[in-house]
Amino acid sequence: MRVIVADQAGVCFGVKRALDLVYSECERCASLSTLGPLIHNPQVVGALEAKGVRVVRRVEDADCAIVLPSHGVPYEVHQAAKDAGLNVIDATCPFVANVHRRVRSLAAKGFTVVVVGDSDHSEVKAILSAAVENAIVISCAEEVDNYDWSGKKVGIVSQTTQTGDHFGEVVGKIAANSAQVMAYNTICYATHERQAAARELAPTVEAMFVVGGRNSANTNRLAEICESAGVPTYHIETASEIDPAWISGMEVVGLTAGASTPQWIIDEVKQKLERIGG
Ligand code: SF4
Repeated sequence: MRVIVADQAGVCFGVKRALDLVYSECERCASLSTLGPLIHNPQVVGALEAKGVRVVRRVEDADCAIVLPSHGVPYEVHQAAKDAGLNVIDATCPFVANVHRRVRSLAAKGFTVVVVGDSDHSEVKAILSAAVENAIVISCAEEVDNYDWSGKKVGIVSQTTQTGDHFGEVVGKIAANSAQVMAYNTICYATHERQAAARELAPTVEAMFVVGGRNSANTNRLAEICESAGVPTYHIETASEIDPAWISGMEVVGLTAGASTPQWIIDEVKQKLERIGG
């Protein structure tokens, strides 16, 4: 059985940058903490913990140095870490920081800010805080109907891991009902490339394997894209989850991975699939 890996899969620029920062910092500082998981991949977070990097839930629980995660934190949290006298290592991805700048600028110009994304996701909470007030989250086009847009100036950005189709649908619906719309497609290029590669590969194989944290927004989007191509799709975190029955009798399967999934996990999944598939 052949296993085809998508042209673009696995660790992105922002995650690599965050990991490089933490690995270089933990050589210098014996008591390093990350505020929440550094990235949405339990295996990588576990490997960092094995090197002594603690995950803390609150700024107060850090000792002397704290790393802020790649998906960003609300402004007040960043400030609290500085006020506590901690050495703050900001691993916020530059693409996420760019969304914060856009939102601040839209809010300052009097726009109602809309973030297209998952309201429970920490990236979205941090983006909302950049607007200070007058900002809302819309997770799907149906939710647009819950608000009165008439006469409003609306500024729209996207969580970096949304799909372009989804973003476009929400923008179109708001634009049809409001006075003025400024929309910035802030989906990052890494997300876009991984989604495009998965969309291209999925219809050409008998099953798709999507590897990455179940709490990873961009991995979940990849799984949705593969499912919507009508191909059996398995979202797994590690090779140990593969059930041989899933690929019984198949000749070719596809493999993609979220932006927080390290190469060694992708390699393990590929090798196991090849071993089982023969
Ligand atoms: S997925 Fe995009 S925004 Fe998120 S860390 Fe990677 S490059 Fe940055």
